[in-house]
Amino acid sequence: TVKTRFAPSPTGFLHVGGARTALYSWLFAKHMGGEFVLRIEDTDLERSTQEAIDAIMEGMEWLELNWDEGPYYQTKRFDRYNEVVDQLLAEDKAYKCYCPKELLDEIREEQMAAGLKPRYDANHPKVIAANAAATEESPFCIRFRNPKEGTVVFDDKIRGRIEIANSELDDLIIRRTDGSPTYNFCVVIDDWDMGITQVVRGEDHINNTPRQINIYEALGAPVPEFAHCAMILGDDGAKLSKRHGAVSVMQYRDEGYLPQALLNYLVRLGWSHGDQEIFSLQEMIDLFSLESVSKSASAFNTDKLLWLNNHYIKTADPEYVAKYLQWHLDQKEISTDNGPAVTDVIKLVGERCNTLIELAEQSRYFFQDFSEFEAGAAKKHLRPVAKEALELALAKVDALTEWTTENLHAVIAQVCEELELGMGKVGMPLRVAVTGQGQSPSVDAVMALVGKERVVARVKMALA
Ligand code: GLU
Repeated sequence: TVKTRFAPSPTGFLHVGGARTALYSWLFAKHMGGEFVLRIEDTDLERSTQEAIDAIMEGMEWLELNWDEGPYYQTKRFDRYNEVVDQLLAEDKAYKCYCPKELLDEIREEQMAAGLKPRYDANHPKVIAANAAATEESPFCIRFRNPKEGTVVFDDKIRGRIEIANSELDDLIIRRTDGSPTYNFCVVIDDWDMGITQVVRGEDHINNTPRQINIYEALGAPVPEFAHCAMILGDDGAKLSKRHGAVSVMQYRDEGYLPQALLNYLVRLGWSHGDQEIFSLQEMIDLFSLESVSKSASAFNTDKLLWLNNHYIKTADPEYVAKYLQWHLDQKEISTDNGPAVTDVIKLVGERCNTLIELAEQSRYFFQDFSEFEAGAAKKHLRPVAKEALELALAKVDALTEWTTENLHAVIAQVCEELELGMGKVGMPLRVAVTGQGQSPSVDAVMALVGKERVVARVKMALA
């Protein structure tokens, strides 16, 4: 059965590039009815932090990219890596290398001076001499005996056939002098032990793949399929970085995006299905394939993400939107205890909002009273001429027994007719009075949700 994984190194938050890789890996597993594993690659003790581990999981959880297995931690698997190192040593597929770093540096410089590609050369006379001179006490690292002949070939699911001559690959260090196993080695043992069938990862790892394949083969382990995703660029064509705005998934939460919008955005960033733009999660799962992932880098486009976010705020189940709006309402200390149902506010105001921050702000007057009107709007619409309209509207509104949008609509129409005023001359003063601001959805619907008590009090305040 299919099993994929996401294997972040916990050196920082979950960024959009990592999230997209995780999404593709997750979608492929779900599409195939397989499983998805989370593995924390924390062997770099100096750069890995618990904070980063928590941040990555928080990002995954927010996106609801749930893992079926794990999280596994590489730091808990050192015994296993050592066991395999010993096995390779016993089979002479790996060997101890006593070359001190200074000597390797010296050889590297010689090679570069001679116009050669710098690499470890086991047959270099100085290397042979250093190994011959070593004693029981000499420090050593362990190197994998890479095949000298032939080529490594693999069919990348995204990039197609890739071939590299073994003469290009040197003998990789699999255990450092300090006894710690190296990245390229741990990844292979993990993917093997965990039964990973497809490795989906960033193209920055593509040069590691042939080396890893040689290790699988030395171990007699099944070689998984590989799919390397292209980079994400900023809108200026440079590699996406902080300078382009948000790069961390949780920052998108903070900036008012729905996880569904970000997922939809990320899936389209490098994958397509005809010219369809909107995908429900189920559609993504049903339609996703690695073969349709683009080989070329994709540019991040915030306007498109905003457009998708607006789409989901308007069209998603209001309960779903409410779940994520709540965090923003809390940030703004807007309590919804006293007022209409949040889902009704979302239905009314949502379509005007590109982000949940805007939506929270536009929800405020349904739940909180205010003591001042927006200055510009008040100056324009609450002038003395509006007094008569507001007074008449107040009297009619106060007398309403059935508080519905239709009745409120009728009230406004009657005021217009009786005072021979245009719609705007009644609607705008009422809007400013009831919402405190110059812009809102249709004022009858707004009044219906704000409720009679608040509407009456606010119109009185506007008249005072
Ligand atoms: N830990 C690696 C990274 O975060 C990923 C390695 C892999 O997916 O094989 O870049």
